[in-house]
Amino acid sequence: MPEIHARLAPSSAERWLTCPGSVALSEQVTHQWSDDNVYAAEGTHAHAVAAYCLTTGTSPLDLIGQTLEDGLVTEDMAHALLTYYEYVQEVAGVFWGERKVEEQLTLDHLYKEGFGTADFLVAIPYQRLHVVDLKYGMGVPVSAVDNPQLWLYGSGAYHRFGLQTEVASVEVHVVQPRLNSTSSQVISIKDLRAFETRVQDGVAALESETDVLVGGDHCRWCPARHVCPELAMLSQVLAQVEFDDGQVGLDERPERIAELLTLGSLAEIHLKACREVAFDMLSRGIPVPGYKLVQGRSNRRWEDDDKAQQALTGVFGDAIFNPAPLKSPAQMDKAVKTVAGRDKERRTDLQRIVDAQWIKPDGAPALTTEDDTRPAIQLDANAEFAPTEGNDQ
Ligand code: SF4
Repeated sequence: MPEIHARLAPSSAERWLTCPGSVALSEQVTHQWSDDNVYAAEGTHAHAVAAYCLTTGTSPLDLIGQTLEDGLVTEDMAHALLTYYEYVQEVAGVFWGERKVEEQLTLDHLYKEGFGTADFLVAIPYQRLHVVDLKYGMGVPVSAVDNPQLWLYGSGAYHRFGLQTEVASVEVHVVQPRLNSTSSQVISIKDLRAFETRVQDGVAALESETDVLVGGDHCRWCPARHVCPELAMLSQVLAQVEFDDGQVGLDERPERIAELLTLGSLAEIHLKACREVAFDMLSRGIPVPGYKLVQGRSNRRWEDDDKAQQALTGVFGDAIFNPAPLKSPAQMDKAVKTVAGRDKERRTDLQRIVDAQWIKPDGAPALTTEDDTRPAIQLDANAEFAPTEGNDQ
């Protein structure tokens, strides 16, 4: 089945390695996930600007307000890309090594027609091969640790550059500047080889286990999440658990609550996907029985700020103005970069002044799964707390 390989993008490796049936199922889906396209376009532009900066040695701050690669470089984008730009410079360091930007890597040694693009890589002979991935999105934090997409890039880069430079290990990095997050993982060549075997086995399973569907967090980005029989079945199981024969309500064991939470998180993915598809259908004039679109709630705003100010000042004076609010610490971080520009020393000084002023109060306790990397906290059993959403980063 050679055509299946062309659909095995490294970015969805977590899904197709875990849920072999998702590849064939996704192929049958006609729905286009519009949000994905918007974010993809934004990410593509940011990557193009980042590549330009790395290849020309231009600071992203010098591009603010300019049109580059068919898009405007905004202040926000420049600040985000500066974090990536400086991270890459630190990784590349002063060592001699082959540096590549937006390097297309073949994965043919793992599966036919496999390929991926590394945003940046540098092979330091006899030492280490670094692969850095820019994540411009700000929806969900992405870690480099045990991330199959990054390991695939690491494998492709190792076969292309690491073997000949005799590196002893591969280090993969993720920079997600808009979430203020960076992470990395050093991979031994032995572990990389074991991963490659796992991928080869996984690809073989795609061809023999097309009806095996395995739900998990990876379902969030599956193109078939609105039609997936596995998710639909889990939603039904949840409904039965809650409403069958009146017995379940009596089961308050922690194990039962944990089971319901896991089922519920997958059912939520399914339900959210169905809502999005229904919204899209109605937007395009396709009737969805029992549903319609209505005007949502909105807040009043001035039709024209200048005209409103002229009309109101004479009567109300200064009462029409809010006092100017102090910028937030996050906004001041951006101001530091703007004021200091490329002067790193000045930036460090200014950042120290800003950092001396803020505090970070403890957030409200949040429920999350055990694989979350944040440490667990112990609460005073007598204090009263309302739970908040787990992914509050
Ligand atoms: S939604 Fe999840 S379980 Fe269903 S096909 Fe996609 S990845 Fe597999």
